[in-house]
Amino acid sequence: MFLSSFQARYFECVVSVFFLLLVRSAYPWGGEHNVISKVAIGTLAPEDREYIRSESVAIEENYCEFPDKNWPCFGEWGNGTGDPKGARMPDFRRLWGVSYYCQWDPVIKKGTAYNHKPPQSWQAVEVHFRNAVDAFSKGKKEDGCRYMGVMLHYLQDSGAFPHMQPLHRSCHVKNLKAIHLESYSPVILGETPDEACKTLGERVRQLTAWTERRFSPLFDSAGLKFEDAKRIAEKELMPSAVMDVVDRLKKEKFDEFESGTTDCANECVRACADAIYTILSFAKKPYVESSPVEVGKNIVFNPSFEKTEGDGMPEGWCVGWLDLADMKGRAEWYRAGTHWEKHVKTGQCSTMILWAPSKGLEWQQAWPKAIKVNPGEKYQGSVWVKASGKPQGNWITLEFSDMNYKPVYTAKSKPCSIESKWQQLSVEVAVPAESRWMRVLLHGESEDGAAWFDDVDVVRLP
Ligand SMILES: [Zn+2]
Ligand SMILES: [Zn+2]
Repeated sequence: MFLSSFQARYFECVVSVFFLLLVRSAYPWGGEHNVISKVAIGTLAPEDREYIRSESVAIEENYCEFPDKNWPCFGEWGNGTGDPKGARMPDFRRLWGVSYYCQWDPVIKKGTAYNHKPPQSWQAVEVHFRNAVDAFSKGKKEDGCRYMGVMLHYLQDSGAFPHMQPLHRSCHVKNLKAIHLESYSPVILGETPDEACKTLGERVRQLTAWTERRFSPLFDSAGLKFEDAKRIAEKELMPSAVMDVVDRLKKEKFDEFESGTTDCANECVRACADAIYTILSFAKKPYVESSPVEVGKNIVFNPSFEKTEGDGMPEGWCVGWLDLADMKGRAEWYRAGTHWEKHVKTGQCSTMILWAPSKGLEWQQAWPKAIKVNPGEKYQGSVWVKASGKPQGNWITLEFSDMNYKPVYTAKSKPCSIESKWQQLSVEVAVPAESRWMRVLLHGESEDGAAWFDDVDVVRLP
């Protein structure tokens, strides 16, 4: 049975965008991050643009925001702040493997956390430049683009006064169309990764200095030397002396203030363009797509949910909360039970969905574990389910998305039909046109019931 659930997905998208906006408004260089990245990519030569074409939209809309999405609040209640009236935040962090690409997991405290302000933001630029170069030189384009997005973020933050919070929090460009360069030819920062990394380190320091010089006259005109403001802001997060100046400038000299932030954004574009251009100069060329999936082999990562990184979740999977306002449904990595009653098909673990809302609650493959597919290939996906309550509210879906990671088609299995017994559900599908990615979604919407999923299997058919 093949059903397209595009409308339901559309609603989900609208809801997600709404929450994205809520999250974004908290950050300076909010939408500016996306525009700066896009304009920087636009300065590349056609062959370089073509090289990253399949990932460009994802870099612009998503990857360059990764460091701002690397918080444990994703997937939790209250807009991430515990607001009792706020809804649940979608779990972007796990969905995109954000902590992996930022190389800092805030839940299990693994890796290195870099603050978004200098000097740490400068260091982070160098670290993620190297990660991106390393991935690209091995022909791992998607990984390279994701690391590059993290680097772009730190580069852009370094040009938005994060070391002076009162100015940082007002650092916005109202007219986003003004972020653009008439003509700019990006510069190669070095012939070797080491040399380029060193030059980029200097380049980002220059960027910060450039933005400070740009705002100095404005501060002078308001009677506070920029260096003095900086010193005050080192000791206090939101010093009133600096806040007053920023407020006054915004009120009395709005046009000059806006032209200052716009110039800073455009200087960020130049630095980002140089960094991207240089990373791509080290990429493996020509790009060779990974060979098609082997026939007859289970290609699902962590199919029996046995592996974890220690954060209480199965590795490579995340929860899709299709109803962000639902306060009852639970999705848990299941490893409980007693000696004689353990709801696992094999091994020690399964995934559980309990009291799912009518809009649905899912276990979904995270994007970094999605399967790259080609139109026309045939796949069979299956899972074992044991359900109580309303078993027919549970099934497996194969979701197909285009190169912008937007769903274009979903194929569902028949729903579960027996109660409290393990049953294998399966679906066969030919990959539709426009598809580049396939993900497994384990769907539940059986309201008062419970369902356990185990042993997912996806194979390419001959
Ligand atoms: Zn930012
Ligand atoms: Zn940031």
